Amino acid sequence: MIVVDRRPAIEGGTPVRERPLPYGRHTVAQADVDAVTAVLRGDWLTTGPTVDRFADELRRVTGAAHVVVVNSGTAALHAACATLDLRPGDEVIVPALTFAASANAVLYEGGTPVFAEVDSRTFLLDSADVARRVTERTRAIMPVHYAGLPADVRAYASAGGRSDVVIVEDAAHALGAVWDGAVVGASSELATFSFHPVKHVTTGEGGAVATRSAARAQRMLRFRNHGLSSEVRGREAQRTWQYDLLELGYNYRLSDLGAALGLSQLARLEASLRRRRQLARMYLEQLRGIPAIVPQAVADVDGHAWHIFPILVGEGLRIDRDGFVRALRAERILANVHYAPLHLLSLYRERLGCRPGMLPVTELVCSRILTLPLYPGMTDDDLASVVEAVRRIVDFYRT
Ligand SMILES: *Cc1c(COP(=O)(O)O)cnc(C)c1O
Repeated sequence: MIVVDRRPAIEGGTPVRERPLPYGRHTVAQADVDAVTAVLRGDWLTTGPTVDRFADELRRVTGAAHVVVVNSGTAALHAACATLDLRPGDEVIVPALTFAASANAVLYEGGTPVFAEVDSRTFLLDSADVARRVTERTRAIMPVHYAGLPADVRAYASAGGRSDVVIVEDAAHALGAVWDGAVVGASSELATFSFHPVKHVTTGEGGAVATRSAARAQRMLRFRNHGLSSEVRGREAQRTWQYDLLELGYNYRLSDLGAALGLSQLARLEASLRRRRQLARMYLEQLRGIPAIVPQAVADVDGHAWHIFPILVGEGLRIDRDGFVRALRAERILANVHYAPLHLLSLYRERLGCRPGMLPVTELVCSRILTLPLYPGMTDDDLASVVEAVRRIVDFYRT
C-alpha cells in the first residue's frame, strides 16, 4: 500500500511543488521588447509622442474623457490630490486596508487622512462608516477598489452628503474592472491607476489619472512638469524658449520608453483580464467547502479585475494567519499579505495619533487576510498546487 505523506512541508512533509510560485508576476512578450526597442532607436526618449498615444489608448480602454499619464501610481494619486487645493486641516477619508501611497498623497498636499472601516466581506471602504466620519472639513473620499473589485462610487458620494466632496478613486488594482455596466474611470471625477510590474499593465514604473474634468486634466499636465506653463515640445512647435512657472509642480513625467511598453501591454489587457477571471473562478470553485478559508465576497466575478486573490483565514485552526503564510511558503507558494493596517504603521501613529482598536473591523480583516498567487502567466496546474497546499495545511491544523 502506498502511504501518501500529507503532512505540510513546514511539518516535515514534501512541498507540493518544486519551483516557487510568486503571488504575482508581469508578462513581457516579444512584441513589448520590439516596441520599446523601436522607441529607443528614435528621437524621443522622455515624455513625447508615445506617452500621448498611451494616454489616448488609456482613454479608449477606460472610456474616460481625459487621461494624464505620470511616472508612478503614487504620482497619479499626488497629482489627483493636488487638484483638490487642500488647506491645512482639510480632511480626506481613506480606508486603512490599502497601500501606504493612498494616504501619503493626502499628506503630500498638506491634508489630513481620516481612516475609515472596510466591509469585512468585500474589503471595500464601508460607506456607512464613511458617513459617520464626514465633517465640515471633509474635502474628498478616497475609496480603493481593493483587489480589483469595484466599489460603489455613488454610495460614497451620498455618504459625503455635500456635492463639493470629491471622490478620488484609487483604482491601482482595477484597470478594466466594470461596475454596473461602466468601466472604472469612465465617468470618474478622479481615478488613479498604477503600472507597477505587479499590476495589470506595466511601464516598469508608471501611473495615470482618468478624469471627466478638462480643468483638472490641465492642472495635472502642468503639475507633472514642474508647474511650467508649457512643455518642451509645445515651445519647439511655437519656436519660443519662454515659459512661466505657474505653481509648484514636480517632475512626474513618464518616459516614452515606458509608454511604449505600456502601449504594447495594453493590447493584451482584455486577454489577461479573461485569464485572471478564469483563474479566480477556478479558485472560487476549488476552495469552496475547505473549512476556515473565506474568499472575498464577490457578486460579479466578471466585473472584477482580479489584481490579487485575497482570502481570510477564519477560526478553527491551531495556527494564525502568519503561521498560514509561513506554511504556504514552505510549500513554495509565495503567499503575501495586502496589507498591514495603514493607521497602525509608525508614521500614522506618530502624525495622527492612531492606536490599535480605532478600526476594529479593519484590524480583524488585516490580521486574517492573505493573498494567494494569481497572474495571467500562471497555469491551471500552478493553481491546483496552491489549492492542494491550502487543503493540506487546513487538514493538518484543524481543531
Ligand atoms: C500599487 C499601488 C499604488 C501605488 O502605485 P505605484 O505605481 O507603485 O506608485 C497605490 N495604491 C494602491 C492600492 C496600489 O496597489
